[in-house]
Amino acid sequence: MIADNDDKPPKPAFFSRLISLLIRAAVLLMLLFVLDKLLPSISQQTQSFVVAKWQQLSLLQQDLPTENSLPSPLPGQNLTDTWGAARSQGRTHEGIDIFAERGTPVQSTTQGIVRKVGENTLGGRVVVVVGPGGAGHYYAHLEDYADITPNDWVNVGDVIGYVGDSGNAKGTPPHVHYGIYINGSAVNPYPLLQKN
Ligand SMILES: [Zn+2]
Repeated sequence: MIADNDDKPPKPAFFSRLISLLIRAAVLLMLLFVLDKLLPSISQQTQSFVVAKWQQLSLLQQDLPTENSLPSPLPGQNLTDTWGAARSQGRTHEGIDIFAERGTPVQSTTQGIVRKVGENTLGGRVVVVVGPGGAGHYYAHLEDYADITPNDWVNVGDVIGYVGDSGNAKGTPPHVHYGIYINGSAVNPYPLLQKN
């Protein structure tokens, strides 16, 4: 009988189909679980990448600092134009020194992206912030850094470090060496800083 012959095989076929369906469902569930774990971190990375690119572009489109436009990195401290003064080994002073008590918080003069938090021979502990127009703002001889890392965004007045005498300033009165670099060349920060 045709019906009998047809009746017998379907059972194992039904079960094997059910099992393969269950396996497929399990695999799908596992995939969904993995995607659920992966996607948020991927999208977070993409988000912070897009935000960082956007911040860079908006910074580059902003104007370079103009005369008397920047707040001092050490508000209330005396500003003196020491740009161009003679330094060891025939160098001239490519910035200005602003003196304050050791440990005084150093504030960013601009908004921008932290480029460097680290040491070099002359500057000791230094922080570099890339600000409006792509200008580099260099803060040197720090005693210590604030809680910042490269690629962080900082606003005007955010503390980036603390006054010290690190680098070749060792043993001199604590001060911050502040330099501004435009297209890779040092410019005198003094005229750009607001005078109190
Ligand atoms: Zn200096």
